[in-house]
Amino acid sequence: MVQAGTKDPVSFRDKVATVDKNGKRLWMFPQQPEGKFYNLRGWVSLAYLLVFFSLPFVKIEGHPFFLINILERKFILFGQIFWPQDFFIFGLGMVVFIVFVALFTVVFGRVFCGWMCPQTIFMEMVFRKLEYWIEGNAAHQKLLANAACNDEKVLRKVVKWIVFWLVSFLIANTFLAYIIGVDELKKIVSEPISKHLGTLSSLLVFTTVFFFVYIWLREQVCTTICPYGRMQGVLLDRNTLVVAYDHKRGETRGKLHKQEVRTDGDCIDCMQCVKVCPTGIDIRNGTQLECINCTACIDACNKMMKAVGFEPGLIRFASENNIENKQPMRFTGRMKAYTAVMVALLSVLVWLLASRTDVDVALMRTPGQLFQQEAGGRISNLYNYKLLNKTFKEKEVTLIPENFKGSITLVGEHKMVIPKEGFVSGSMFIHVNGADIVKRKTLLKIGVYEAGKKIRTITTSFLGPFSGN
Ligand code: SF4
Ligand code: SF4
Repeated sequence: MVQAGTKDPVSFRDKVATVDKNGKRLWMFPQQPEGKFYNLRGWVSLAYLLVFFSLPFVKIEGHPFFLINILERKFILFGQIFWPQDFFIFGLGMVVFIVFVALFTVVFGRVFCGWMCPQTIFMEMVFRKLEYWIEGNAAHQKLLANAACNDEKVLRKVVKWIVFWLVSFLIANTFLAYIIGVDELKKIVSEPISKHLGTLSSLLVFTTVFFFVYIWLREQVCTTICPYGRMQGVLLDRNTLVVAYDHKRGETRGKLHKQEVRTDGDCIDCMQCVKVCPTGIDIRNGTQLECINCTACIDACNKMMKAVGFEPGLIRFASENNIENKQPMRFTGRMKAYTAVMVALLSVLVWLLASRTDVDVALMRTPGQLFQQEAGGRISNLYNYKLLNKTFKEKEVTLIPENFKGSITLVGEHKMVIPKEGFVSGSMFIHVNGADIVKRKTLLKIGVYEAGKKIRTITTSFLGPFSGN
């Protein structure tokens, strides 16, 4: 989207803000924004970081609240264990997430990038702030970068590298705690290094990756690597809410002169919106792929508007239609369609989560066995069973016939006790009155009970001595 009325609506597309005409990288030294959006982002980031760093330490009855142990395929989300058998729920959850992202982007543009994305939060609210603290404001940073090697430069750069590396190490440790749990992590920290050389090596690799991202890659992650950024062109439309410059009000832009009767638009061409932009773009050229909706330019422009006595909101959250035609926010057909798909998928996901049981049962007739005729006219079939306990507590279950008169006997066991986070397997006979079997294959329903309460019903087929069906 290029907004009509901008001074030079085409030429900005011929160059990338972070690359000079010789193809060399231009380092960004964005000014620290001041304003209500920046303050609000500070609070959002603080809450985000508190959750991120504290979640691995939260335990319920001694068990992690959150664990994503990919290596052992053990997943605990919000205190609930998810086994590989539950992966279809994850699969559907991912589909719901992707549709949600699409819908959210159609309506609210890239606001996730600026406000919730871990990359932006760590880059802008952690590492950038540390950089202001160590190297000074944007002007000082630029001077330092261009200065010849001297004691001050060496000292500040070394301090910055050490601090960045330590924070990267902390992030890598936290990620590791999500994967192996804090107890394992404590063991690695307290035991001799020689016992955990493998884990320590991966920790150092991840630390180096984080360090490289925040010391060198920085805004390039958002502008050239992130696939979500690339999708904006197809997801945004003229009704999407984005950080936008009101060109109708701002143009023709021009410097403000004392005692002048102003005939230009409200943009005083102070460039403050460009100076605070972490990706180095000029939002007055319209919505661009590099814009992460961080709102720094809104704060900068509002500050300038206030200083010169103009109305704030020259740069604001608005849709193209809102600026161009003064149209209020509309719930378009595309938004309605996405919402319908989203509600349908969410309903299925909620149903799957609600109907998910703590015990999984697999019951199959033993291969190669038909049926046995017993004394008293009874018929029996031999089955193999496997019961999986998805909780942190041992469970004792009983199987009770539901739609037939008969009994169940375990082979070599008296009861079915499933260890916590484990499974039990074995064989069992189902005995049924021969008079009740009138077909070759009869569908049996069996109730699974725990402490007298039915937790689920399973079905299986029973073979009888009849030919035909
Ligand atoms: S244009 Fe504004 S909202 Fe977009 S990245 Fe730059 S400062 Fe942030
Ligand atoms: S900060 Fe506002 S007034 Fe200054 S150049 Fe940007 S849009 Fe124009």
